[in-house]
Amino acid sequence: MKKILLHICCGVCALHCIEYLKAQKFYVEGFFFNPNIQPQEEYQKRKEYVDRLTDLYQIKIITAPYEPKIWHDICDIYKDEKEGGNRCYLCYSLRLFKTYEVMLKNNFDYFTTTLTISPHKKSNTIFEIANKIDKDKFLAIDFKKQDGFKKTTYKASQFNFYRQNYCGCIYSIKNK
Ligand code: SF4
Repeated sequence: MKKILLHICCGVCALHCIEYLKAQKFYVEGFFFNPNIQPQEEYQKRKEYVDRLTDLYQIKIITAPYEPKIWHDICDIYKDEKEGGNRCYLCYSLRLFKTYEVMLKNNFDYFTTTLTISPHKKSNTIFEIANKIDKDKFLAIDFKKQDGFKKTTYKASQFNFYRQNYCGCIYSIKNK
């Protein structure tokens, strides 16, 4: 059985992605690394629902320490940009590269991310970044295909999961 490390942005997005990967017969572990999420109370709330995935799907979740400064150091240069621009490109890059490092360190076969399930995120941009990191280790799955987002939000309402109304960083709060 091939081992895959799934970068998880939030519990809602992860529901369908985990089920999809398990149906493909992967051994799945989650990786919660999102220094973009602010304020800290919001981070804790999203993490709380990610933690619930452990029992729901019998999977292990690796959680990185919460260090928003590393995100600001990289992304603040584009703080005034609209969502979907250069700030997001750097934000995806940071999270994907860290996932790649953890994947290698823990001897997984592949890595991928829940980020592609969001209709607000361009999967091709995410694929471009991850393929530059390592195209042989990245599984380019567009989770939003075949109604992936609809399926994951339906499951979220069944499990009574918290659904945030902004992407994550403080600059995306104004887009609420
Ligand atoms: S809007 Fe979302 S993807 Fe873009 S920089 Fe902020 S948290 Fe990251």
